[in-house]
Formats: sequence, structure tokens, C-alpha cells
Amino acid sequence: MSSPDLLIVGAGLGGLALGQDTVRAGLNVQVLDKSRGVSGRAATRRVPLDDGREARLDHGARFFTARGARLRALAEGGVRDGWLRVWTRSVGEWRGGTVTVPPPAHPRYVPTAGMSALGRHLAHGLSVTTGAEVTSLERTGDGWRVHARDGSSWTAPRLVLNLPAPQLAPLLGDLVDDFPTLAEAAREVGRVRYEPYWAAGIVLERDLDAEWVGLRLHDHPMLEWAAREHTKREPGQPPALMLQATPAWSTANLERRPEDVLPELLDSTRKTLGDFTPLHAFAHRWRYSTPTVRASGPAHWDPALSVGWCGDWHTPDEHGPRMEAALLSGWALARWVLGEEG
Ligand SMILES: Cc1cc2nc3c(=O)[nH]c(=O)nc-3n(C[C@H](O)[C@H](O)[C@H](O)COP(=O)(O)OP(=O)(O)OC[C@H]3O[C@@H](n4cnc5c(N)ncnc54)[C@H](O)[C@@H]3O)c2cc1C
Repeated sequence: MSSPDLLIVGAGLGGLALGQDTVRAGLNVQVLDKSRGVSGRAATRRVPLDDGREARLDHGARFFTARGARLRALAEGGVRDGWLRVWTRSVGEWRGGTVTVPPPAHPRYVPTAGMSALGRHLAHGLSVTTGAEVTSLERTGDGWRVHARDGSSWTAPRLVLNLPAPQLAPLLGDLVDDFPTLAEAAREVGRVRYEPYWAAGIVLERDLDAEWVGLRLHDHPMLEWAAREHTKREPGQPPALMLQATPAWSTANLERRPEDVLPELLDSTRKTLGDFTPLHAFAHRWRYSTPTVRASGPAHWDPALSVGWCGDWHTPDEHGPRMEAALLSGWALARWVLGEEG
């Protein structure tokens, strides 16, 4: 690829949405991400089983809703093309041991292959380098050079960062001394706060005997969410359960090891939802899961320095830090990068 016009650090939904729009507008775009794949917190864990089957569990985002016209069009198009589905219109409610399943309402969408398929869909046609953890940013004349942990580096005249705010803040730290115009924006990045989530995935020998496909638990000492993951997939997939602990429990247990929290999460699940035999189980910690204090505006763009950032921790709409917010933030920043809006 010839030298890029734009570097995007972070292949979460925000960065990929921006990448798609800027490539469509004719820019040469290079995306970098530290993970092995794209899609960030819209994540799917694949678990191969001894009998040759594979379970897919969404250990980050559970499902998405589409309130705005653009995501609604994307979702409806995905359903028509067969890679997305309306998983359910009704999420069960657990209160004090009693489960109710409300009447059908708005659609909750999932990609049939797992949530990360949405990121892969958005990444189609983009040049993405994975396994590239960016550790510092350097201003070079009228452009940018980003340096990765393995010693590699990339240059481009424009730079976008799609990272959780606490991971962005240290990268901006060094720049603020040289570019005081970034100082106020960097201070706002520093004010963003997150809460964590412990998640646990279980591949089951047999499905639970349950009416719900997804279940929100209220006032439970440990658990906040459960989903029978195979109900998101094509029929015949191994039964699997995804759990998320409450933010309070996750915060109190944040620094423990996955192998130590997992037995407690399984035990609590058995007591709450009934007994099961696990074929495989894992725990995953999201240190920066949900922004609780967000930054103003849909994204940030400094036209003089040609640098900006986006993500669900901005406020492109009033509906909270969800997948749709990440997409709206990326789409908004794309317009600024392309100079379509001031
Ligand atoms: C447990 C959980 C449950 C959720 N449930 C829902 C739900 O049901 N519905 C919903 O709509 N949303 C849900 N969300 C929120 C949703 O996942 C996020 O809002 C959305 O995915 C955020 O996208 P993003 O692009 O802003 O950031 P991210 O997805 O965080 O992307 C940031 C990217 O930056 C990369 N990165 C970080 N540091 C570096 C570095 N130094 N160098 C290179 N790359 C780097 C990361 O690897 C990542 O790919 C949930 C999230 C979690 C964690």
C-alpha cells in the first residue's frame, strides 16, 4: 500500500466505522490494533470442543439495538443479507428468584457468527494491521508518526485514535507539553471514568431448562446478565451460557485472577439458574468496560494538528455508551476528518 493519508489506531467499532467512510471518500487508510482481531469490545470467544464442534460466546457486547436511521439501515440490510438476525424482542427479568419474560418489544440484533462479525463486516476493504500496540505518538513536520511496542512505526498526515479514554490519556500526555492547544481536550479525556465487568462463559453438556434467551438480573449480589448464547446462532450449535457480574462485584474483585473468580461465578450461577455440567468454562475481565463519566460532543477533532479521537465514551446521542454510540462517534469524526462539517 502507498503511504496512507490517515492512520486509525484502534479497530473497535468507532475506528472501523470511520475507516469505512473515509475509504469510501477516497482516502488511503491504515488501521492498527493491538489485539489479534478487529471489533474491540464487540467481541466473540470461539471454543473448539473435543467432538469437533465449536461454541461461540459473545463475552463483550451482548446484543445491539438500532435507534438511529443509519444503524437501523445497516441492521435491516444485515438481516436481509443473512449475516445478522433479530435475536430477540424480549429480555427476561430476574427479581428475587422469580423470572418474568415481558411481551415482545424492539429488536435486539446479533450477528449469527458472533458479535465480532460486525467488526469484520465494517473492516471489509480496509487495510488493518493487528498485533500492533501503539506506545507513542510523534508529530513530524505537518504529519504524524506512531510507534508500536515491537519497534515498527507508521506515518500519515492525519491521525485518529479510537481507544478507551484511559488508554488514550498516556499517549496524549507527552504531546500536551509541545502542543498546548491539545491541553484542554486531553484534560477532558482524563476526566472520563469507566466501570469494569467480569464475564464468564460456559459451554454446557445440556441446555438449561429456561424460557428466556437473555436475562437481566436485578439486585443480585453477583450477577447482572445471563444469555443462552446458542440461541443467537444457527440451530445445532453447542449449548452455551454467557454471564456478566455486576459492576459492584466486578470492582470489588477486579485484581483477582480469572481462575480464582471463575468457580465463584459458576457456583452463584448454579444457585440462581439451576445446576449444569460445564464442558468448558472461562472468565474474562474487562477493565474498561462501560464509561460512566463521558466526554462532551460526538468526538474530538483538532483541524490544525489533524488529530482526533472517537469512541463510545463520547456523547453522539443521549442513549448511553453502547455499540451505536461508538458507531455514531466514528461516523461523526469521519465527517470532520473529511472536512464536511466544521
Ligand atoms: C461486557 C460488556 C457488555 C456490553 N454489552 C453491550 C450491549 O449489550 N449492547 C451494546 O450496544 N453495547 C454493549 N457493550 C458496549 C460496546 O461493546 C462498546 O460500546 C463498543 O464496542 C465500543 O466500541 P469502541 O470503538 O468505542 O471501543 P473499543 O471496542 O474499546 O475499541 C478500542 C480498540 O482499541 C484497541 N487498542 C487499545 N489500546 C491500543 C493501543 N495502545 N494500540 C493499538 N490498539 C489499541 C483495542 O484492542 C480495541 O480494539 C458492552 C461492553 C462490554 C465490555
